[in-house]
Amino acid sequence: MENLSHLYLTRHKDFIEKIIARYVNAELILVESRSDIGNRIGLSKWGSPGRRDRILFPKTISITEQLSVILAMMKRESSMVHPGLADHANRLFASNSMLFLEHLVLHEIAHIKNKWGQKKETACDLWAFEQIRGR
Ligand SMILES: [Zn+2]
Repeated sequence: MENLSHLYLTRHKDFIEKIIARYVNAELILVESRSDIGNRIGLSKWGSPGRRDRILFPKTISITEQLSVILAMMKRESSMVHPGLADHANRLFASNSMLFLEHLVLHEIAHIKNKWGQKKETACDLWAFEQIRGR
């Protein structure tokens, strides 16, 4: 099994765009660094009239950044309220970067598709988890 590795998103544009196209009509934008998107690891923006929704990611995501996302997910998890999310986080941790990337893309799609603001992080993770589990 491949473990987490440095992600170069420019190499995975097709992969990301195919996932996006399954759910929403949004444009993928890869920015130079996290500082361009408020130091986040991903950002979704609803379009104004006449403009498509947008999903932004940095061009590269390090292993450390992937781990911090997974750890944040584990911290937010409360098994009483969100059964399965910790297992999902564990699976991402034990798995490879492509599954992590799929989760990340689905997380941003969740914001757009469900019109959930940036505070609904756990809901977006759960939605992403359901999509991966349900296929
Ligand atoms: Zn989010």
